[in-house]
Amino acid sequence: MTSPTLAPYAACDERSRGRRFSEAAPAYRSEFQRDRDRIVHSSAFRRLEYKTQVFVNHEGDMFRTRLTHSLEVAQIGRAVARALRLNEDLTEAITLAHDLGHTPFGHAGQDALNECMAAYGGFEHNLQSLRVVDELEDRYAEFRGLNLTFETREGILKHCARDHAATLGDLGRRFLSSTQPGLEAQIANIADAIAYNNHDLDDGLRAGLISIEQLCELPSFEREYQVVMENHPKLGGRRLVHEIIRRMINRQVVDLIANSQHRLAETAPANVDEVRALSRPLIGFGEAQAEEHRALKRFLRQELYQHYRVLRMTFKAHKVMKDLFEAFFTTPRLLPPEHQQHVRALEAQAGDHGRARAVADYVAGMTDRYAIALHGRLFEPGELT
Ligand code: MG
Repeated sequence: MTSPTLAPYAACDERSRGRRFSEAAPAYRSEFQRDRDRIVHSSAFRRLEYKTQVFVNHEGDMFRTRLTHSLEVAQIGRAVARALRLNEDLTEAITLAHDLGHTPFGHAGQDALNECMAAYGGFEHNLQSLRVVDELEDRYAEFRGLNLTFETREGILKHCARDHAATLGDLGRRFLSSTQPGLEAQIANIADAIAYNNHDLDDGLRAGLISIEQLCELPSFEREYQVVMENHPKLGGRRLVHEIIRRMINRQVVDLIANSQHRLAETAPANVDEVRALSRPLIGFGEAQAEEHRALKRFLRQELYQHYRVLRMTFKAHKVMKDLFEAFFTTPRLLPPEHQQHVRALEAQAGDHGRARAVADYVAGMTDRYAIALHGRLFEPGELT
């Protein structure tokens, strides 16, 4: 089901590199729509509702979760894909799946688990997202995982260390040869960054960790602030914040489309394989916007992610993750039976490395609130349930 309006360098069903286990083509959907549907029906997708990036889930119901983040990334990604005549269905599938492998407690959880796994091959959330869709989802009679297309899996694996890439065959090759994924994967990458920079800013303001005055040091914020104040001098509060942020997102998306269009016209790849062979991505901001994007990232790193209240959450998250990993690694009998079985299966293949991987799979799959409750049950003397 190829739309006639797709560009020659867009991904399409006919040129897909296919699935690991071959299946009959869907009757009324494209292959990438089928991928998207399988992702939305997965249990890892549902758990995104109770996982966070910066703020711990129970800090407040108004903050983004990984689920709402993934939806925001998908809508930005689809708008860009459509404007560039790229495959919107594939972009949607990649964006909805891109965070499936995230641990509880965002970056803090991932860092803690990576430390726990240092002697056993480490822990990378991008690789874990791929592991979720390839191995861990347990839903279909004919195969393990979701059996997604190569193109969706390629997009999910955003980054990967070289030693891991070497074990992934075709999918890992680009990390060894420093080449590119398809354009839909490139869109998903940047849509992710646009979404999280802007919503972290919004959530940071909402939590009172950063202020509008501070943000006016950023040219990208100050410019929109001035425009809004000029047109709506009485506007204040949340409405002012939203109006500024939606203008920032719009400016970034418009720049991304215009600049990518320009690069695509200049390079004129004949097909997706020519895109893959390039050493630079074709989807990207123009230089001025790229600099503003980096400045926004720097601001968030310094003023929000290092804020003492965020660091307190990070500190606690780190401890919860380490304690849980330790407990299950040293005493796998504390695991529910199906996870004990997973430990035994991986242990039989790879000894301690396998045991550690199985425990990491279990801990990484938890939601923030589940990890906190389980930590309480295991470590607080008052709770014996
Ligand atoms: Mg993300």
